[in-house]
Amino acid sequence: MYLRPFDPWKAKLCTCPFKYTLNVYTGCDHACLYCYITSYIPRAFRVRTKEGLLPKLERELRKFDRRYIVALSYSSDPYPAVERELGITRRVLELFRRHNVRCLLLTKSDIFERDLDVLSELSCAVGITVTTVDETKARLLEPNAPSPMNRIRALRKARDAGIPVYARIDPIIPFYTWEDFDKTLNALKFVSHITVSTLKLRADIRKRMEAKFPALMETLNSLYKRGERIGGYRYLPRGLRFQILREAEKRINNAGITFGSCREGYHSYPSCDGSHLVPP
Ligand code: SF4
Repeated sequence: MYLRPFDPWKAKLCTCPFKYTLNVYTGCDHACLYCYITSYIPRAFRVRTKEGLLPKLERELRKFDRRYIVALSYSSDPYPAVERELGITRRVLELFRRHNVRCLLLTKSDIFERDLDVLSELSCAVGITVTTVDETKARLLEPNAPSPMNRIRALRKARDAGIPVYARIDPIIPFYTWEDFDKTLNALKFVSHITVSTLKLRADIRKRMEAKFPALMETLNSLYKRGERIGGYRYLPRGLRFQILREAEKRINNAGITFGSCREGYHSYPSCDGSHLVPP
């Protein structure tokens, strides 16, 4: 089955409404330092196509209960560089259109701009992740992803095409992306909903970040040492984490945007993941 219920592990702090997820590709070449898929996908930063995806998906969609949303994608990006040539995600969206499937798209690319014609005919919401609008920092953190300003420009076009749009500022990294939060929020003021999440560390993420940011990681390691361990991840100490989340929520709400948080043990309204934006 290519359409799978989201979060089969039932993470303790996940507050997502029940939904399905589809990973059009296996792996993701954006190669973000903080990426968590490296803990369960071998050679995670190499993108592979899936055997017979489109015909198999079409069969699954014939029986799909359209009350539920399909999220693209949570263990990969629906728009890796190769999607420009292959157009597989575009064909998946065309199948969704044919079968009237509701979709929650999330990407760190601007390639979706090509597919706005299909997306505007779907019941969908489109979101981008932007950790920071500082291009130099983003390049270090997400070496192969398109620049944040290109992602934002493409999302504006989606909004102008009448598609509900949202964003994730995720992860918030203290002493790094948190410093740019206001600028990042300011560039995203046109979206309806923003989900935030603080950096959560596990061994593979820590190793990649220490190699690139030795000084920052010295500071962060001493902070995270005092944090909780939840579901295999080391979190920031609860006091500091909630202080950041409260501040982010206040600034996001003051901009007239609804606030969601992801796996923080903190509240969200009206949804954590932006799924409330997908038209019925
Ligand atoms: S875009 Fe997402 S899935 Fe891809 S490398 Fe970055 S964090 Fe991982």
